[in-house]
Amino acid sequence: MTSRGDRPPAPDPLPIPVVDNHTHLDIGRDGGEPPDPGEAIAEATAVGVPRMVQIGCDLPGARFTVEVIDRYAALLGGVALHPNETPGLASRGETDAARAEIERLAAHPRVRVVGETGLDYFRTGPDGIPAQQDSFRWHIDLAKRTGLALQIHDRDAHDDVLRILAEEGAPEHTVLHCFSGDIEMARTCVERGYHLSFAGTVTFKNARQLRNALAVTPLSQLLVETDAPYLTPSPHRGAPNASYLVPLTVRAMADVLNVDVPALCTAVADNSERIYGPW
Ligand SMILES: [Zn+2]
Repeated sequence: MTSRGDRPPAPDPLPIPVVDNHTHLDIGRDGGEPPDPGEAIAEATAVGVPRMVQIGCDLPGARFTVEVIDRYAALLGGVALHPNETPGLASRGETDAARAEIERLAAHPRVRVVGETGLDYFRTGPDGIPAQQDSFRWHIDLAKRTGLALQIHDRDAHDDVLRILAEEGAPEHTVLHCFSGDIEMARTCVERGYHLSFAGTVTFKNARQLRNALAVTPLSQLLVETDAPYLTPSPHRGAPNASYLVPLTVRAMADVLNVDVPALCTAVADNSERIYGPW
């Protein structure tokens, strides 16, 4: 049994079930133990979050993803090489082998996402940029060849993410995971038909820009996610995140959008099935 420790209490259940569009069941917060997937799913289901997309960010994470989605009907999977992984792979000459394995794992029928890929100019310095961009282009191509959705990680790299997507041609289903842009970027993404996935960051006090971006996103292009174990929504910022806390983010989003909670839940559930297919 995992002790609940200092974990936030369960919020009131959502009236209509939604999907956590991006979570990491293989990662423990601050190097701690990862959650028990069965317990995490049960806790989330109890508050109206019975389905999740499990994202594997490196080869061990991608292998875990394919194994865990076989065990739990609540989960679909995503596999990719995270932008912070790709410079290291390149410098060790391991890129080709890693890509071949990701491509093989992506053929699993319950893997429905190529992601998270993208660009991270915050954690990787200028030396890593060419490897990240090359990897991003490769993942875009993989998503198009396989017909899978693309989930993008964009940290401090908005212009290059938008430019490379335009140059390569975005896949039919393109998701900006943990959207972090401003209102202008949101408008561009909406115009191009991309989906914007909002995480707990949208509930943070200082996130006015992000709420402005959310306010111009139509319901038909919205998703919600945890990015657990990170980005725990307010008022539990800093505690471990998990899918059972999605209702806090959904309610905050409904406030910003000035829609009722059931309408937002229905939109998120419909969008998720349209993008990822049935569970
Ligand atoms: Zn993530």
